[in-house]
Amino acid sequence: MDFELSEDQLLMQKTGRDFAQNEISPTIEKDEKEHRFRPEIVRKMGELGFFAGVIPEEFGGTGSPTGMLDTLIICEEIARVSASYGLPFNMQTIGPGLVILNWGTDEHMRKYLPRLVSGEMMGCFAITEPNSGSDVASMKSLAVDKEDHYLLNGTKTWISNAQVADIGIVYAYTDPSQKHKGISAFLVELKNTKGISTKPIETKLGLHCAPTGEIIFEDARIPKSALLGKPGDGFKVCMSMLDNTRLSCAIRAVGVAKGALDAAVKYANEREQFGKKISEFEMIQDQIAEMFVDIQAARLLVYRAACLRDKGLRNTLEVSTAKYFAAETSVKATGLAVKIFGSYGFSSEYPVERMFRDAKSFQIVEGTSNIQKVIISSTVLGKK
Ligand SMILES: Cc1cc2nc3c(=O)[nH]c(=O)nc-3n(C[C@H](O)[C@H](O)[C@H](O)COP(=O)(O)OP(=O)(O)OC[C@H]3O[C@@H](n4cnc5c(N)ncnc54)[C@H](O)[C@@H]3O)c2cc1C
Repeated sequence: MDFELSEDQLLMQKTGRDFAQNEISPTIEKDEKEHRFRPEIVRKMGELGFFAGVIPEEFGGTGSPTGMLDTLIICEEIARVSASYGLPFNMQTIGPGLVILNWGTDEHMRKYLPRLVSGEMMGCFAITEPNSGSDVASMKSLAVDKEDHYLLNGTKTWISNAQVADIGIVYAYTDPSQKHKGISAFLVELKNTKGISTKPIETKLGLHCAPTGEIIFEDARIPKSALLGKPGDGFKVCMSMLDNTRLSCAIRAVGVAKGALDAAVKYANEREQFGKKISEFEMIQDQIAEMFVDIQAARLLVYRAACLRDKGLRNTLEVSTAKYFAAETSVKATGLAVKIFGSYGFSSEYPVERMFRDAKSFQIVEGTSNIQKVIISSTVLGKK
């Protein structure tokens, strides 16, 4: 067991940190207020190889044996400055990229993977529907087999990147009589297919620089070649995808919590009350210590789950454990940071207010905290 990052990983961490400081930080507060997403930031991240870790060299990646851990190390540094720009890690290779690698054809891999790695193409994945969230199998989207193509109808909602993505991993029933075994996964060219429209969701609590929206399929003609795996493999594809995307979500939660801790430490060492720095009050020290301990523990849980994945081992329990603890840590730590900032913590003039709002997303996306506990407890109780 080695707890030290390699020299290469330390360099990646520094590259991620510098990028966040130089390319994201200068405009983030203004952009958050204007709900502005900058696709050029995603492209630059691609050019720097931020999405390359989990993809083999022949498809434009690095083929690193520690690819997931490498990627998450960079992702934490980005999320420390902006939770919104932590999301592209999932939208490019950790989500769609790995699905294509694990379930796609050689043609899919050659056509899409290099462009997802470089950021030339943006991706998304669409599971959630207006009446189907945690209960994935209750989805209503239907792809009817028409011999030479599928005809897809349905509405997906709360889809990250909906209105900017070129391609999407879309889940729909091909045989509703088979319950979850009747769901299939499709690699859909969202911008080049007739019958597909999108609608932005502009009422979000946080993640204001990350596009979110609905995708509506109305008699969309999906070629047979878009099928990932076999008809009916969709639920398996989806669950294997979530084992990866939950990891990136968990490290983003850690990043946001660390960003809040950094801000709280700086503020506590500057702000004076009762004639001394507030960092001299034991109750403030207690809050800082709690944040630090939780963040360290959450990061180690994420690293362990990532290492298992990099070794090709099953990690569903470890992923849910890490995702649950990191999400709760992020909400707790950002809440403590708001407390330490006092009234300034309640103000959008300071970043901890934004971090507090963004952190709430981690308890919801990629399976809620309750759902992670269902997975953890059913495994621990031997019911799975
Ligand atoms: C910012 C953002 C981005 C998102 N991006 C995407 C995306 O890119 N792609 C995508 O497909 N979806 C995306 N989602 C949707 C997200 O994955 C769902 O919101 C999530 O799975 C929860 O579903 P729901 O909101 O319908 O809640 P519901 O499933 O309706 O849950 C409501 C409440 O009931 C609880 N609950 C439900 N079932 C159980 C149970 N069995 N035991 C105990 N409690 C339970 C939940 O924990 C929750 O508290 C995104 C959501 C947000 C907020």
